[in-house]
Amino acid sequence: MSALNGKCLCGDVSFKVGAPSHLDSCHCSQCRRWSGSPNMSFDFTTVNFETDKSLKWFRSSEWAERGFCGTCGSSLFYRLVEDPSKMTVCAGAVDDISDDVKITKEFFIDEKPKFYDLAGERERLTGAETFALFGVEEDN
Ligand SMILES: [Zn+2]
Ligand SMILES: [Zn+2]
Repeated sequence: MSALNGKCLCGDVSFKVGAPSHLDSCHCSQCRRWSGSPNMSFDFTTVNFETDKSLKWFRSSEWAERGFCGTCGSSLFYRLVEDPSKMTVCAGAVDDISDDVKITKEFFIDEKPKFYDLAGERERLTGAETFALFGVEEDN
């Protein structure tokens, strides 16, 4: 598996990550607020850092943290508190993702605003279906 280069906008966080077989998108309100738009990311994977001097983590829920650059603010990673060794990687941070890599799942389709749609046919899961897939208990 060839490694791709990733970095934040200012370069204070840079890393290598294996080329993805597919991407996922999440429309939940947290991802949209954090990413500024729907989130598109790699599935949970291992990230090898070249530099992480400005990497900061924000605990966004009981079960997860979101990684970002403390200098330039780029949204970069998402990881589960119970297994921080693997993380999802925001697709926009990574160079040269192959043209044949497609988004294969959309999460939290029931939280997607009406002002956009992602074109193409793929699996679209509600929030409840997303939690069931990942075995996470909803907060309530
Ligand atoms: Zn940065
Ligand atoms: Zn989300």
